[in-house]
Amino acid sequence: MATDTPETPEKPETPKTEADLTGAAPRIRPKPSVERIGGRTLKPSTMMMGHGYDPTLSEGSLKPPIFLTSTFVFPDAAAGKRHFEGVTGKRPGGAEGLVYSRFNGPNQEILEDRLGIWDEAEDALAFSSGMSAIATLFLAMVKPGDTIVHSGPLYAATETLIARILGRFGVHWLDFPAGATRDEIDTVLARAASGNVALIYLESPANPTNVLVDVEAVAASRDALFPEGARPPIAIDNTFLGPLWHKPLQHGADIVVYSLTKYAGGHSDLVAGGVLGSKAHINTIRLMRNTIGTICDPHTAWMLLRSFETLELRMSRAGENAAKVCAFLRDHAMVDRVGYLGFLRDGPDPLQADIYARHCEGAGSTFSLYLKGGEPEAFAFLDALRIAKLAVSLGGTETLASHPAAMTHLSVADERKAALGITDNLVRISVGVEDADDLIADFDAALAAV
Ligand code: PLP
Repeated sequence: MATDTPETPEKPETPKTEADLTGAAPRIRPKPSVERIGGRTLKPSTMMMGHGYDPTLSEGSLKPPIFLTSTFVFPDAAAGKRHFEGVTGKRPGGAEGLVYSRFNGPNQEILEDRLGIWDEAEDALAFSSGMSAIATLFLAMVKPGDTIVHSGPLYAATETLIARILGRFGVHWLDFPAGATRDEIDTVLARAASGNVALIYLESPANPTNVLVDVEAVAASRDALFPEGARPPIAIDNTFLGPLWHKPLQHGADIVVYSLTKYAGGHSDLVAGGVLGSKAHINTIRLMRNTIGTICDPHTAWMLLRSFETLELRMSRAGENAAKVCAFLRDHAMVDRVGYLGFLRDGPDPLQADIYARHCEGAGSTFSLYLKGGEPEAFAFLDALRIAKLAVSLGGTETLASHPAAMTHLSVADERKAALGITDNLVRISVGVEDADDLIADFDAALAAV
């Protein structure tokens, strides 16, 4: 009820922030908090708890609030002009402050600061899905008449985007198999070099075959064939092993792409994407994202911040589980073959074993299970699973199983499926963080039911 004399005491003055005291523009995106203690550089798992967020800017809240707003108030007109110079690319590096939620936001910026840490990237961008990240990257890098050289197979929607959608706008493509040797890569790149190669795009391990790409060989081939200053960037989809077990920027890639929906999000409760790399590349991609609005929303960014706190724990436990499950499956009478990266060392393909040894720090927890038989046996197995859920996607806390030939890769032509090893007896499994022996019991019972 309104009265002339307020019954409550006067609202205390809002605590002063550094910006009030110094008269500077509010520092909405504080510089990274603690990165080193003494001579020690902090590990990513430590940095995930607070990096890029200053609680004093949000009433002391330990966790960042979710900033649900479409636009941000400028301190003065000159600041608005400065910010727009960044947003429109007049000055590289994006806006110095917050402008409009299609361009940036506090939750997304904290997320980007933390995302870049795992791969030791200069800069990072968050997107509304893995596919919107990939599409924005392509739109930023490629024009009609250009060629994209890529490894194959790629995630089916990425293949569709390159061949069927960009193809409509006059973009050409050439591919080499994921497990290609240096000579095979040289041959394809040399052929492509007669046109304008705008981008080399890799996916390793490839979805769904788990074949690794020799990123070091691709970089060496690119550097040998293209003069400095005219070298197409190498981008790589690192969704399956990253960011823990494979760091492609250390092996010659320039840009890393993620479906953050998978291991990074890790709970099968959000869809998001990320792109990381040098400031120069990220600035180019940011301009496209600003224009088409493929940034992730603040709530998803907040969820990802929470996910990142347990990323190392989740991926490590899932990796340990997968090693136990695969060791069990390998010797089972109903199993023809297990395509698990941890078995490459003693496998029949020395090049894959060598790529694994040079590039990967762990085998991850997504693998291919080839059953004896065909589609009926694979379907019977999938239908009999009780802990593992029959669903596409991967990288969540729960174990998922799916049938690529009939589901994610249904649209791929039969000859290409056969060439890529996407057979009817292939089941793809993403192992979660459950008890490993419970999972083995589930797989054992399902195999017995086939
Ligand atoms: N890249 C890979 C390797 C994937 O497996 C997926 C999705 O399964 C994507 C990209 C696309 O990601 P999103 O579903 O987040 O758009």
